Amino acid sequence: MVSDNMSVAPIGIFGGTFDPVHYGHLRLAEEMLELAHLRQIRFIPTGTPPHRAAPQVSAQHRSAMVQLAITDQPAFMLDDREVNRITPCYTVDTLRELRADLGEAQPLCLLMGGDAFLQLHTWYEWEQLFELAHIVVGYRPGFTLDESIHTATAELQRHYQLRRCTADDLSGQSAGGIAELAIPKLEISATDIRRRVAENRTIRYLLPNAVANYIHQHHLYKHANY
Ligand code: ATP
Repeated sequence: MVSDNMSVAPIGIFGGTFDPVHYGHLRLAEEMLELAHLRQIRFIPTGTPPHRAAPQVSAQHRSAMVQLAITDQPAFMLDDREVNRITPCYTVDTLRELRADLGEAQPLCLLMGGDAFLQLHTWYEWEQLFELAHIVVGYRPGFTLDESIHTATAELQRHYQLRRCTADDLSGQSAGGIAELAIPKLEISATDIRRRVAENRTIRYLLPNAVANYIHQHHLYKHANY
């Protein structure tokens, strides 16, 4: 771990396709902001994600929807640095850029769900991530990472055992820890929202009104391609 012996409130990094952003994302971010004592969360919509099929709508639309969704929360910020990249966006490159922008002393926390964490070994240069940021993992209450970590690769298990820390430890180091937070997961998914729009069904209360209006105004997700 990189230690600077100073306590600086961490910045959370929340990447996703946000195709579209919804209350599942926003509640996860809000809970992490509070529980990990973050001073800011940067929402980083991915441009060309290496891990999954291309998003349905352009990065510009996905960014615009994130911007509309977070206007009421001053601690949330849209960071659209991946949007205009035409090459695949690897998290490790984005973190390197953020580290260069924000300085060595600033604690950074990469936010993700337990499912994503257990697949971390498939990410490009994944072991470098620990040099650049802490990882904060949200898990469903009652399903701790400790119980499922045996399904991960031996290398990932080793990092997990070595780096486990509490949310209170995150501000004392700039990177290298793995903290777990119990966060209820809302049963909302972007896939379901896209399907509903294509089927002319209601999406009210699954995402902010401003985002629902944007989807309707721009005729997004009209075609059945979830
Ligand atoms: P899709 O349905 O298209 O796969 P998604 O809703 O899962 O999309 P992503 O943009 O891929 O959204 O997710 C970004 C991050 O948000 C991921 O880390 C994912 O685990 C998390 N996330 C997505 N939905 C929820 C939810 N309902 N509650 C908590 N976290 C969520």
